[in-house]
Amino acid sequence: MRTAIFPGSFDPFTIGHYDIVQRALPLFDEIVIGVGINAQKRPLFSPEERIEAIKKAFRDEPKVRVMTYETLTVDFAHEVGATFMLRGVRSTVDFEYEKAFAEANKQLSGIETVLLLTKPEYEHISSSLVRDLYSYGKDITPYLPK
Ligand code: ADP
Repeated sequence: MRTAIFPGSFDPFTIGHYDIVQRALPLFDEIVIGVGINAQKRPLFSPEERIEAIKKAFRDEPKVRVMTYETLTVDFAHEVGATFMLRGVRSTVDFEYEKAFAEANKQLSGIETVLLLTKPEYEHISSSLVRDLYSYGKDITPYLPK
């Protein structure tokens, strides 16, 4: 069984995140989307709201599971039996950040990180942009999965 985790804050889960998971599905038997709960951060959307929205987006996809976790990401991967970690890359800034984490995580636990490049049309989309628009009362539905 080839299992990957797709970890993130997903506050909220955007169309960019959705696209990464969709494109990774042919690579894995199962993708476990892990909503990281960080006691230090004050999220806009509660863990329950984030989980609900992600489950809805993948309701017709049996290969996708959605969970929250509060541990170190590599420990979460170990718990669900994942040997791969999926991440998305929008820019060279993302790349440098992901590269450092991928190397550290590989050393810590042997987990292999798989990076997929974002589609150019989603390059500018981030959860923080969506949160900003939402807090000013703007329509955020164009940035969310259907
Ligand atoms: P984190 O807080 O761990 O960075 P995020 O929820 O911001 O979590 O993102 C999770 C993953 O999705 C990261 O690998 C991030 O680079 C990727 N990602 C975020 N937005 C996009 C996008 N628009 N296109 C592709 N990948 C993205």
